Amino acid sequence: MRLLAKRLSGRVIQNINSTFSGGGVAEILQRMVPLLTELGVDARWSVIKGDMPFFEVTKKIHNTLHGRPDPFTQQDISIFNETSRKNIEEHNLVGDIIFVHDPQPVALVERKKELGKKWIWRCHIDVSKPNEEVWSFLQPWVLQYDASVFSAPAFSRSLPIRQFLISPSIDPLSDKNRELSRDTVDAVLAKYKIPGDKPIILQVSRFDYLKDPVGVIQAFRQVKRSIACRLVLAGGTATDDPESDKVLAEVMERAGNDPDIHVLLIPPGSDIEINALQRAAAIVLQKSLKEGFALTVSEALWKEKAVVASAVGGIPLQVQNKFTGLLSHGIEGTAYAIRQLLGNPEYARWLGKNGKEHVKNNFLITRHLKEYMLLFLALDRPEDVIYL
Ligand code: UDP
Repeated sequence: MRLLAKRLSGRVIQNINSTFSGGGVAEILQRMVPLLTELGVDARWSVIKGDMPFFEVTKKIHNTLHGRPDPFTQQDISIFNETSRKNIEEHNLVGDIIFVHDPQPVALVERKKELGKKWIWRCHIDVSKPNEEVWSFLQPWVLQYDASVFSAPAFSRSLPIRQFLISPSIDPLSDKNRELSRDTVDAVLAKYKIPGDKPIILQVSRFDYLKDPVGVIQAFRQVKRSIACRLVLAGGTATDDPESDKVLAEVMERAGNDPDIHVLLIPPGSDIEINALQRAAAIVLQKSLKEGFALTVSEALWKEKAVVASAVGGIPLQVQNKFTGLLSHGIEGTAYAIRQLLGNPEYARWLGKNGKEHVKNNFLITRHLKEYMLLFLALDRPEDVIYL
């Protein structure tokens, strides 16, 4: 990695996204940028500006790219264009390589004609079956980039620009993932008033409809009829996600006053707490209806947890059914898988051990760093076919 980093010396890599905290993109950049810096690469990270109406539109873009059939209106287009225009005028573009993450800042590439530089669009979303109207709206910008990056072949689109496939990663030494003592785990459970009397089923996710927290509660209620257990729904909000308050309110209402359901609103940066909850869990769920990669799955597998997750987005890359976890379908399917694992802890342990090995081989940040550096270097060699 140091050899690759040396070849990038003198060049500034500028990452641009729409939030410093909340969600997987920020999670990765928080680890990626300091590690690139440590390797001697001049990596920077800046965030575009936007108000609530802009982020409502970008959330709609996110949902519709995942296939939700919301109408995309003329007003949405005006709001997106107006905020993009401001960012195009005001955002300080200092990089030699401008590494733009996701659709929110996609329009910044309009400055390419004037500034030159190399431009990469890193799409973290599964855009294989998008709302075509929204994709057509974004595509003229996407096509101006020198290269695009998707997490997996199944996520991508046929595009006339270069495409690279690079899956996300977790940092095993971060506060989110490092080993914790039993005392730390217990202290976090005590802080959130979660008794250790019954096995804990956990889902960690932003409060977002696509993470299906209500479906999680329904599945849990089915399990609870026959097996004593607790549900912890731990989530936060993201500054670029205006829907979360509404979803959280609905989740609270559905949870009612069930003493076995713990809905936790966790402030940003509470990495040790999330880590502790994941370590305390008997089973980690990711019952998403649509997904990008779902870092939460790798985080849980790294901690040798039995994972029950939907077969959407990047989850099947991580959960190989009946080997590194269980892929489930719907509420009944999720409840069935949870019951199966609670009834057979040895099987659950075996899945967790395989899961850790799988993450170690495929989804750690060292592999990711190497592939990003190769990507940056490959921009200078447009003719080459590069196998990352
Ligand atoms: N996360 C967190 N606190 C929360 C909810 C999520 O720290 O309250 C983290 C979670 O541990 C993971 C990331 O945010 O590292 C979410 O990434 P993922 O790819 O699972 O989903 P996204 O939010 O990007 O859709």
